[in-house]
Amino acid sequence: MRRTGPGRPLWLTCAVDGADHAVSDAAFLAAQGGDGRYDALCRATVWASSLAAPPASRCPSCATAAGEPEGEGEGDRRHRGVLSRFVPRASA
Ligand SMILES: [Zn+2]
Repeated sequence: MRRTGPGRPLWLTCAVDGADHAVSDAAFLAAQGGDGRYDALCRATVWASSLAAPPASRCPSCATAAGEPEGEGEGDRRHRGVLSRFVPRASA
């Protein structure tokens, strides 16, 4: 099923604080043709960084505003799992 309505926010990495902020569809469209600033759900001003920027951690205020669960995401957990595979354990 496809949901319409307020829509899903877009997550943009801010070049200033390095965090991912949620920007609503409307705010994203409103900022097109502007100077690269977007109004995030947390009311921060997001300066969009290069799309090649590595994924950053999400702004907790935006996550809450977007209705997403706060705290460690699955990405973090997966990351840790991968790391533990590469880090040899000291055997007793
Ligand atoms: Zn934010």
